[in-house]
Parts: sequence; structure tokens; C-alpha cells
Amino acid sequence: MKHIDINQAKRNIRATLGTLEEWYVLLGNCYACEHIGMLDRWELQRRLGRDTRIKALEVMLACTKCGNRQFNGFCIAKQKR
Ligand SMILES: [Zn+2]
Repeated sequence: MKHIDINQAKRNIRATLGTLEEWYVLLGNCYACEHIGMLDRWELQRRLGRDTRIKALEVMLACTKCGNRQFNGFCIAKQKR
């Protein structure tokens, strides 16, 4: 397990909407058609709470283009200023 920062990995697993730095945006990525859509993380946080784990939300993603709900994932990107 050399070269792996286990503490960093643990932090990422436990990342919640509230711990995500404010200059990051959440994107949803469709496994089926590769469509990428922007999610409103502040809206999600209002609805679900800041302690909601980002990983736990992946199963809720539905593609707005093709409707696929399987194997979709989040991308986290830095917002351009
Ligand atoms: Zn799709």
C-alpha cells in the first residue's frame, strides 16, 4: 500500500455536500451516452442536508438526455472564475 494516501482516500469516501469546497461544482456523468450535466449542489444541499454523502447520491442520478439511471457517476470540477 505504498504511494497511497489512505487518509486522503478516506476523506474522499466521506465527502459530503457540506465538506465540498465552495469553488467546486458537481457534474453528473451518464454511463450510457456520456452526457455530462451540471447539478446545483446548493439546491441538493438545501433539499438533502449538508451531511449527505456525495457517493450515496450517485444511485439517484438520472440522465436528462437519455434517461439512463445505471452506473452514472459524479464528476467534481473546479469552477472557473
Ligand atoms: Zn444519457
